[in-house]
Amino acid sequence: MKPYAGTEDSLWAATVSRRYRGVALAGDVACDVAVVGAGFTGLRAALDLAGGGARVAVVDAGGVGWGASGRNGGQVNPMLPVFQPNDLLKAVGARYFERLAAVSLGSADAAFDLIRRHGIECDARQKGWLRVDHCPKARDTAREGARLWAEYGADFRFLDGDDLRRASGSPVYASGILAPKGGAVQPLSLVCGLAVAAEAHGARIFERTAVGRLERGASGWTLHCGPHRIEAGQVILATNGYSSALRPDVARTVLSVTPIQMGTDSLPEDVIASILPGGQTIADTRRSIMYARREPRNRFVYGGAAMMGPGGRPYGFETLRRDAERVFPQLRGVDWRYRWGGQIALTRDRVPKFMEPEPGLIAGLGYNGRGVAMSLAMGKVLADRAAGTPAEDLPFPVTEADPMAFKRVQELGAGIALAAMRMADNREMRAAG
Ligand SMILES: Cc1cc2nc3c(=O)[nH]c(=O)nc-3n(C[C@H](O)[C@H](O)[C@H](O)COP(=O)(O)OP(=O)(O)OC[C@H]3O[C@@H](n4cnc5c(N)ncnc54)[C@H](O)[C@@H]3O)c2cc1C
Repeated sequence: MKPYAGTEDSLWAATVSRRYRGVALAGDVACDVAVVGAGFTGLRAALDLAGGGARVAVVDAGGVGWGASGRNGGQVNPMLPVFQPNDLLKAVGARYFERLAAVSLGSADAAFDLIRRHGIECDARQKGWLRVDHCPKARDTAREGARLWAEYGADFRFLDGDDLRRASGSPVYASGILAPKGGAVQPLSLVCGLAVAAEAHGARIFERTAVGRLERGASGWTLHCGPHRIEAGQVILATNGYSSALRPDVARTVLSVTPIQMGTDSLPEDVIASILPGGQTIADTRRSIMYARREPRNRFVYGGAAMMGPGGRPYGFETLRRDAERVFPQLRGVDWRYRWGGQIALTRDRVPKFMEPEPGLIAGLGYNGRGVAMSLAMGKVLADRAAGTPAEDLPFPVTEADPMAFKRVQELGAGIALAAMRMADNREMRAAG
């Protein structure tokens, strides 16, 4: 893997508060828990475990934040992408439903609290999240979902007409939900801050260190990293959209897809003033999703679904630019100087997965593009499990590997699947007038 391919083109790399720069593994290491993946999931797990006195080693093939955690939209969303409580109930069963609902609805508060506790400088702001509807059917589902989730403590407020148009600054959406607990972070600053905090608690972090093979022995695991080895009592896999042949059973349970983003430098006040004036982040209900936010110093970030091209370079920026100008006509002709993308992991039922494929090997992944708050929550769950919490006391059920999960989509190919999603979105938007 080429270190930082694509991340250096991001607005986040240009504005990061304190870039973490670490060493590569240069010898053999022994530890209690080895964590594969230095993103939000892995570093949160490492932080909690090291804070509890465990000897922890974190390795990443690229480096801290090389994956989605250093590239994402930084929207801290206080809910799973599951529209109705009943869908979550069906997915996880009665035993886990209330626990997982509480963890996901509380995940944004928990993320901002973690950031405060560790004094991480990452432009954290909890000014709310707007989820806007692309068609009447989406509006009805969202409105009903907001009503039903309120029974479990969710605060989702329905907005429409001029209220919604003023809050979003977009003429194209007629309704949406405001979730006041949502907010934003500078994601690369956050993941680097987590690495610094985990290290301060004693975790060792090795960048540019790929784990090529995992081997189970009588008393634990060996991680083969080129010429070096890590001997660990337990292993946490925190590789999400970058999961691979290292554990094909875990990787095949999710579908890796590629959202992309564009960012501007400071825009003139008259261009930006009417867009998201309350400082909320925004996302829509399309399958091919739009998400956007204002940044400090009048910068702007806009993202959507796209494709990964050869050499790990995403493409689809021209389509994204046209979409940005349709949604926010104020942005016509602005210079989208920063362009980047990354990989996320989808699950069939839109619920993240906690997996335990072998004794002493656990994995947490599949945030369906809502991973900023939920991966931090999952990291805690992984740390609790590695520290001895019985599996049945966790908020997630243990999921068996599901190698057939995305067979149909994989057969179709990601490009055709994305085109099909866009066609369905466009049909619904046209039908809505
Ligand atoms: C463009 C984009 C926009 C997004 N926007 C949002 C958003 O606005 N809000 C939101 O909630 N979520 C968003 N997400 C999703 C969110 O970023 C992810 O869900 C979250 O960051 C996942 O964190 P993670 O630590 O599990 O995985 P990652 O951060 O992806 O980390 C996985 C790491 O594993 C490493 N790795 C893989 N295999 C190996 C190996 N064999 N050896 C060593 N290391 C290995 C990789 O190098 C990688 O760094 C977005 C994602 C993308 C890509």
